[in-house]
Amino acid sequence: TRIRPSSKRCAVIGGSGFLGRHLVEKLLDKGYTVSVFDIRQSYELPGVTFHQGDLCDKQALLTALQGVSLVFHCASPAPASDDKALFQRVNIQGTQAVLQACTEAGVQKVVLTSSASVVFEGTDIKDGREDLPYAKKPIDYYTQTKIEQEKLVLKACDKEKGLLTVAIRPHGIFGPRDPQLVPILVDTARRGKMKFIIGDGSNLVDFTFVDNVVHGLILAAESLRPESPICGKAYHITNDEPVRF
Ligand code: NAD
Repeated sequence: TRIRPSSKRCAVIGGSGFLGRHLVEKLLDKGYTVSVFDIRQSYELPGVTFHQGDLCDKQALLTALQGVSLVFHCASPAPASDDKALFQRVNIQGTQAVLQACTEAGVQKVVLTSSASVVFEGTDIKDGREDLPYAKKPIDYYTQTKIEQEKLVLKACDKEKGLLTVAIRPHGIFGPRDPQLVPILVDTARRGKMKFIIGDGSNLVDFTFVDNVVHGLILAAESLRPESPICGKAYHITNDEPVRF
């Protein structure tokens, strides 16, 4: 028997991660019932059901998506990995599996966490808008697969079929329990390895506080309706001003 999707029942793919967990906590605050789908379980919380599995496994996803109307996809291999096959498998084939599973399970909305690096060509962008083209030469293979992933998700937006999609593009995310950005910067500085400036010291870089990313993801989800102009679109998200680095 199929459980009828409830608008307050959602799944967070990658919900054990840094951003995913912050998102899960906010969704619980807002009265959602949350299923987490992840290859690992990193915590327990009342109101959260964990499904351990690989997002490339459609059958495992289908079990976790029963009765779910809204899916947040925020899983990815770590950007620092140099395993191209892994990026290809998880970010591209895995995203296809996610979209397929969502269609089969009757999910109505998919919100992707993309990345602002999908439009980065190696030169500073200030006040960059969403009509910037995708980078022709992405800075790394991770970004190349994030571009492909975003295209797949946005292309899957189909009002007739009842699947609506949107993507949010943060850049560097910081906040409590950040496992990468700030700890790696601090560690590098402590080891005396931050003595060089690349460029003239005025390169721009953008950071977003994790709660703002979460806010953007939930706003996108709650605004995603068939008549909404955000259907099938991507949105940059930032704090305010970029930082000079
Ligand atoms: P994270 O590494 O903390 O979390 C990612 C989660 O995905 C982990 O829990 C991991 O176990 C899970 N995962 C990886 N492969 C999986 C698979 N095959 N099946 C199921 N789960 C899998 O990373 P994060 O910083 O929370 O990033 C979340 C999302 O935000 C990613 O899509 C990332 O590309 C995007 N993003 C992050 C930043 C940043 O600065 N952290 C910036 C821009 C975009």
